[in-house]
Parts: sequence; structure tokens; C-alpha cells
Amino acid sequence: MLTARDANRSHGHSTAVAPVNVDMFLGDYVWLDLKTGREFVVPIGAVVKLCDSGQIQVLDDEGSEHWISPQNATNIKPMHPTSIHGVEDMIRLGDLNEAGILRNLLIRYREKLIYTYTGSILVAVNPYQVLPIYTADQIRLYTNKKIGEMPPHIFAIADNCYFNMQRNNRDQCCIISGESGAGKTESTKLILQFLAAISGQHSWIEQQVLEANPILEAFGNAKTIRNDNSSRFGKYIDIHFNKRGAIEGAKIEQYLLEKSRVCRQAHDERNYHIFYCMLKGMTQDEKKKLALGKATDYTYLTIGGCTTCDGRDDMKEYSNIRSAMKVLMFTDTENTEISKLLAAILHMGNLRYEARTYDNLDACEVVRSPHLTTASTLLEVDGKDLMNCLTSRTLITRGETVSTPLSMEQALDVRDAFVKGIYGRLFVWIVGKINAAIYKPPPNPSKAVRRSIGLLDIFGFENFTINSFEQLCINFANENLQQFFVRHVFKLEQEEYNLENINWQHIEFTDNQDALDMIAIKPMNIISLIDEESKFPKGTDNTMLNKLNSQHRLNTYYIPPKNTYETQFGVQHFAGVVYYETKGFLEKNRDTLYGDIIQLVHSSKNKFIKQIFQADVAMGAETRKRSPTLSSQFKRSLELLMRTLGVCQPFFVRCIKPNEYKKPMLFDRELCVRQLRYSGMMETIRIRRAGYPIRYTFVEFVDRYRVLMPGVKPAYKQEDLRGTCQRIAEAVLGRDDDWQMGKTKIFLKDHHDMLLEIERDKAI
Ligand code: ADP
Ligand code: MG
Repeated sequence: MLTARDANRSHGHSTAVAPVNVDMFLGDYVWLDLKTGREFVVPIGAVVKLCDSGQIQVLDDEGSEHWISPQNATNIKPMHPTSIHGVEDMIRLGDLNEAGILRNLLIRYREKLIYTYTGSILVAVNPYQVLPIYTADQIRLYTNKKIGEMPPHIFAIADNCYFNMQRNNRDQCCIISGESGAGKTESTKLILQFLAAISGQHSWIEQQVLEANPILEAFGNAKTIRNDNSSRFGKYIDIHFNKRGAIEGAKIEQYLLEKSRVCRQAHDERNYHIFYCMLKGMTQDEKKKLALGKATDYTYLTIGGCTTCDGRDDMKEYSNIRSAMKVLMFTDTENTEISKLLAAILHMGNLRYEARTYDNLDACEVVRSPHLTTASTLLEVDGKDLMNCLTSRTLITRGETVSTPLSMEQALDVRDAFVKGIYGRLFVWIVGKINAAIYKPPPNPSKAVRRSIGLLDIFGFENFTINSFEQLCINFANENLQQFFVRHVFKLEQEEYNLENINWQHIEFTDNQDALDMIAIKPMNIISLIDEESKFPKGTDNTMLNKLNSQHRLNTYYIPPKNTYETQFGVQHFAGVVYYETKGFLEKNRDTLYGDIIQLVHSSKNKFIKQIFQADVAMGAETRKRSPTLSSQFKRSLELLMRTLGVCQPFFVRCIKPNEYKKPMLFDRELCVRQLRYSGMMETIRIRRAGYPIRYTFVEFVDRYRVLMPGVKPAYKQEDLRGTCQRIAEAVLGRDDDWQMGKTKIFLKDHHDMLLEIERDKAI
């Protein structure tokens, strides 16, 4: 009979092993399958502690003990040696299953090794503690190294982006994905920090690029239950380098700021950082001018019941924000104007309303308070006008203008919409202002010599108890990115193997193209139906839902409401089913303000507010009809993004959140399995292990590596390019190693590339 140890020896890669005799040795490592049947539970690693009259006792990775009797012998299987102490690159795992991946990340995490590769894809587990691995020394250590030459690190990815950009003279991008709180934004900052350190002379422009972050975070990040510094917008930072490889500028693209947060926050969450920072950091004098008090004085800042955030010093942050704004050329006047708008928002949030009835119509009044006058002073509009706009609305019927009162509920909506409108436009203006400082259009676009590295830090997949239009947009973006990943890693790769006649066994993978088609690509897709209904004057959330149902009811990716009362529909996303509550969909998608509000802004003596509302004012009374819907704008900017990414060489960083409590050294296995599963990590490892991620045309290969073989002429003088290529590869990599010659290219593994590059560095 086989003992676990024998099984270990004889089965190199074994997932299915014959039932194991419980006659094991102390200290043997095993997989323990508790067979709970729960969706995200996978076998756990364990070590044999005791063998006693046919029974054995094992201690699992979480410290629990279990007795296994001979009848339950199928519950345990021997562990492959690579899983015992873990590997830096998961394509080397012998136990190629979820349990193996999970344990590998777990044991590394316990040793504070938060980074692990899957080929050149980096998995990063959030440590929730400051690790001493980002020092200037570390930057030096990782500079100009090949992936795999040093332990896995985010700096290695950054270095490779940079090195590849120069070596291949191609733009690079780095797609950083993960749930909220997984560490995307921190990873983005680390990459940026690394690139700035290795590329530069500490130039002014470089500092400006770095200082853009604190401003964006002040206005676009907030404390949420998932993350104390949660980005409530997506961003793509494209960093431009000149031909010597120094940073010469950057451009920031922002996506879908969560505007509703300005008016409402969930329990234990805050509004945007800037409000609290401003109230803590301004001088008494500055505050007096804006009639401002403490954070607890303002409705908009206290709905979540939380005005402070552990570990954040809002006062200190405020001075950082101010100095960053100086670096990015915000003038004093602009700063004052921004503060005025922020203050006006807070004052408007404190307005109280009383319900009234006029002529049998529901109406309301603003309760007299200094907040109304202050708000109108700050917005530089007439107080009466403001009041009218907030309590009534003008209708034009048959050429006549009629003013109708708003019910209290409507009035509150109008006020909130105005406030969100101001904040959203302010954010867009700020990003524009930053870009004006850091973006330098190429001097001669036709002969563009510059190269770029783009960093994508975008909201991860969301599935809450109640999901709305915003979640649909966010998840739509994630479907796009997943498809990009799938295309890049699975589809294009396997197509190319076929075209090049590479000996290859097809690998199955989950393709999300059909879901994406239903959401946004094929005719009558969900987004276009929502859009159509938003433009239709009689359209309601209900008529929209009916259209979705009749169009998609039979689609496997669509889950219609169970009955006619239900107002939600479901979508089978690659990361699971999400139900969307349709109430409010159309209004959110229209994202427009009433003509009265636009008129009010137009009447303002404040140039700044007029400027940020410029586009709306230009459209005049027609804004509600003419302005593009949120989803159409978002879809367009996503298309542009996907096109940009499409011409880059991509790197992928998969961030993993180890627990829901923002705590160090706590690894929630189920939570992690879910994230690994949704990111397609298993399939990724399988394809990376079987595949050849590095490929060169024969010309490229010969020209780059002929230095490794004395006497080899440059490619253009070669008669038998393929043969020469093969000779070099055989000499350096060995005839029997797993690389292949295609029709026009040579196909290599990551480690071949590393070896070749190291040899080349030695040779030149
Ligand atoms: P995301 O952008 O994915 O929502 P963040 O990047 O904001 O997540 O990370 C959330 C928090 O986790 C950070 O505020 C920080 O406290 C912690 N964190 C993330 N990455 C690291 C890291 N590499 N080292 C230390 N702490 C980190
Ligand atoms: Mg973030």
C-alpha cells in the first residue's frame, strides 16, 4: 500500500490520487477536504501530528485539529512538495487547483511575502500594514532586472513596464484590478513612485505628476466600510516619457465619480475627504468668511454618523492638499472659488423644508435660516431666485411659462441634484486643471518619439444588497476589462499558436463575451435600451424594465423579475449574479438639471461656477434634451480606454483583499477563493504554465541575441533566419527545453527570456 510519502514521490502533479492509507508519517503534509459543499470552501493544507491505532490526527493551516479514521481516508490526499513551502511563481505549483493557489498565497502572506507571480501576472495580497519593502534601496535592487530574477514585487512590474517600453519601443499599460480595498490605488502609487525614481532627474514635471494624487484623492476618495481611503472614481494615468526615458508629462482620465456621496452616505461612511479636511485645516479667518463651523454641524457630513477616520489626520492632509494644489498651479483665486463652492454645498445641505399646500397642490417652503442667505452669497446669485429654484419649477406649455410648486420630496431632490451637479462638475474641472499643468501635447504628433506607460486603477466588481445604475456601469466596465484579459491571455494566445503551428493542447476558459454582448455590444443591448428609454419623454423605470424583459428574457445571462411587482432584474456577470434595482435608473442616466437651475447659474455673478457649468449654460433650456446621458458618455470613454489599452503591451496586477476588517495578518480563505475564482486565476495559471508568453520574430530574435554566438551576422544578412534563430536558442537554452519554433516566430517561456537577457547583459 502507498503511504502519503510514496504518493508524494510518485505523483508529480497529482490532483486525483488513489485513496490514501492512513498509515502516514508524522510531519507529512496533506490536503484535508472537509467536504462542506459550500461554494467557496476548498481543501485546506494540514500536517500530520499523531498516528494512533489506525487513526491519524492532523493540524490544519488555520490551527484546528482533526481526527481522521480509515473510513474517512478519502478526505485526505498527499500534498505536492511545491505546496509545502510555497513557490514564487504559481505556474510551478504541483497541486494545480484552487486549494494549491490559496495555500501558496496564505503561507507567503504569513511571512509577509505579499507578492506572488503567475508568470508575469502579479498577485498582490493587501498586507494592511506598512512593510519595509518600498525603500530607495529596494527601488535600486529592482531596477533593470528581469521578472523572476528577484522575488516578486510591484516594483518588478514597474521596472518591466519601463524596460519593455524602451526595449520594444512600444507603449505599455498596467491593469490593476481587485475589489474595493484590495490595494489597487496603493499599487498604482507605488508604480508611479518607482517610475519617477528610476526615470528621472527629479524634475518639476515629475513632482507635479506625483502631486496630482493627493488632490484627486481629496476630492474623489472617501472613507467607506470597505476602505478608509476608497476611490469613488476610476482613473487612467498615462505617463509620458521622452526618448531618453525621462518623464515629460502625463494625462489623467477620470471615470464616473460617485456623486450621490455628496448628499448621502451609508452608515459608518463619510463624504469626500476634502470637506472634513477643509473644516479641520482652514484658519478661523478663512472659515469665518465662508460662515463655516465644524463637520458635525452639517447634514451632508453626518448622515453616515461618522466624521473622523482612524489613522487620518484631516488637518495635516489639508495642508498637503493645499501645497499639492500650488505645485499644480491652482491660483489663490481658484482655491478660494473652490472653497466657496464646497461651503455653499454644505450650507445648502442644511436647508430645512416645510410642507405646504397651495391650491390643493403639494408645495413646500424653505425654512428661513442663515444658510440660505450664505449659500446665495457664496454662489453669487439672488437669494429669492435661489429660493424659487429650490421650491418651484417652470414649465413651458403652449408657449406660456407657468411656475408650479414642488412637493417637499421633489424640492429635496432638486436641491440634491443641484449640489451633485456642482460637485461633479467641480471634480471634472479639477482633473482638467491638473491635466493643464502636466499634459504637454506632443510637439509633432506625426513623428511622436515619446512613449507612455498607462496605469489603470478602476473600481472593481460590485455586488451590494441593493445595486443601482452606478453598479451596472461599474460592472459593465469590469466585464470589459475581463474581456480584455481573456482576449489577451487566452484567445489571442491560442489563436497565435494555431497560426504558427505550435504544438499545443487547447485550454478551456470562461469567456465573458456573450455577457458583454448582452450588456453593451449587440443591437438592443441593455445599455442602449436604458438609453433609449431615458430619451423617451414618457419613459419610466417600469417601461424600461418591460423592454429589457421582452428583449432579453430568454438570454441565459439575464434574470427577469420573478413577478410583475418586482422592480429588479439580474445579470449573470463573470464574477457572479448581480440584481439591479431599477427604481431611479432613468433619472440617474439622464443626469441633467432642470432649466431653472441652469438659468440660476447663468444669472450668477460668480465666473467660476459659470465656467464649470459652461457646457450646460451653452445648451440653454434644451439641456435636458440635448445633454448626453451618463451611460452613453461612460460607454464612449470606456471604448476609448479599451482602444488605448489595445495598442499597449499589457501587464496585469491582481489585488486581493485578505479580509473585510482592514486588519493585518488575517487571511479569510473563503473571501480569497471567491476573488481568485472570479479573476480566472486557475485558468490563468494553467495557460501560463502550458503557454509561451514570450515571442520574437526571427529577425528580432537574431538581432537581439546574436551577441550570444560569436560570428553570427545581423538578420538582414542572413539567408536562413529560422535556422540561425534555432541555433542560437539551442546553444543558449538547450535543445530539449520547452521552447518552440513557429512559422515566423520563436516561442519562449518567461524563464527563457530571463536567461537570454542575463546572458545578453553579460555579453554586451
Ligand atoms: P483599492 O484602491 O483597491 O480600493 P487601496 O489601494 O485604497 O484599495 O488600499 C486600501 C488600504 O489598504 C490602503 O489605504 C492601505 O491602508 C492598505 N494597503 C493597500 N496596499 C498596501 C500596501 N502595499 N502596503 C501597505 N498597506 C496597503
Ligand atoms: Mg482605490
